[in-house]
Amino acid sequence: MPQSPQTLTHIKQTLSAHGLRPKHRLGQNFLHDHNHLKAIIKAGTIKENDLVLEVGPGTGTLSQQILETGAKLLAVEIDQDLKPILQAALHPYGDKAKLLYTDVLKSKHIIAPQIFADLQELAQTPAPTFKLIANLPYNVASPLLANLVVDYINPGPNTPRMTTCVVMIQKEVAQRLNASPGTKSYGPLGIMIQALCDVEHALTLKPGCFWPPPKVDSAVVVLHAKEKPLTNNPKQLHTLLHVLFTKRRKQIGAILGRSFPFPSEMQQNLRPEQLSVEQLIHLASIYHQQEQND
Ligand code: SAM
Repeated sequence: MPQSPQTLTHIKQTLSAHGLRPKHRLGQNFLHDHNHLKAIIKAGTIKENDLVLEVGPGTGTLSQQILETGAKLLAVEIDQDLKPILQAALHPYGDKAKLLYTDVLKSKHIIAPQIFADLQELAQTPAPTFKLIANLPYNVASPLLANLVVDYINPGPNTPRMTTCVVMIQKEVAQRLNASPGTKSYGPLGIMIQALCDVEHALTLKPGCFWPPPKVDSAVVVLHAKEKPLTNNPKQLHTLLHVLFTKRRKQIGAILGRSFPFPSEMQQNLRPEQLSVEQLIHLASIYHQQEQND
C-alpha cells in the first residue's frame, strides 16, 4: 500500500528511486506539511462522490487525501516522468481516480478541452458540478483561474460547472484576488473573481512547508461561486477589463473616448483601478451595447 500522507523522506526517496529531481521550470515544490494538507481538504468540504479536478498532482500526496474522502478525482499532470509514481500512489482508489497527462492550458486563454470531456466521463453526466482543489504551479495559477472563472462558473448547457476552488498559490497572487479598488494589487483577475465568487483567504504557508522551498510565501485561497453573481455576462466584463487595464495609467475618459456615454455620476478623470467592481460591470454593459451599435 503506498504511503499516505506522504512524508518528506518518502517524496525524496520515491523521486530518487526513479532517477528524478524536482523540476523548477514546472514549479515542482512538493507540499509535505500534513497539517496544511488536511486544512486544504477541510476547506474544500469534499463529500463522497464529489467530483474534484486537481491540476499538478506531482507525486500524488494531495490527490490521495482527496480520494480518501470518497470523492472522484481527475488529476492533470504535465510531467510524464511522474507517471509510474502517480500510478502507484493512486492505484488503490481504482476507478475513482483518473490521470490525464497534458498541459492544463492549451493556450493562455484556453484550458485543454480533454479535461472537460474527462470530467463528464468520470461523472457520467454531461453537466456535472466540480471543485478545483490544487497546489498550483506558479506560472499556471493566474491564467487557469481566469479561464475557469470566466467560462465555467456559469457555463452554457451540457458543460461542467465549477462551484468551489481551493488553491494554493503565491501569496502575492492571492492578495490580488480580494484586493480593493485603488490598491496596487487591484486588477482584472481579482475583479472577475469578485464579480462571480466569494473569496476567502484561508491560510498562509512559509516556504519550509514545501520541498524544495520556494522563494516566496504561499497562500490557500477558497473561492465559492456566488449564489447571485454580480454579473450574468462575465465575458462582457472580461472584454472591458482588457480594454481598460492594458492602459491602466490613463483616465477612463481618454481610454473610452469623450463621446462614450458614461453614467452621469461617473467622473471621466478616474483611472480604471479606481472603479469598483459594480461600476466596472455597469460600464461593461454600456461598452457592449456600444459595440453592438457600431
Ligand atoms: N500536488 C503536488 C503537491 O502538492 O505536492 C505538487 C504540486 S507542484 C506545486 C505543481 C505540479 O504541477 C507539479 O507536479 C508540476 O509538474 C505540475 N505542472 C506544472 N505545470 C503544469 C501544467 N502546465 N499543466 C499541468 N501540470 C503542471
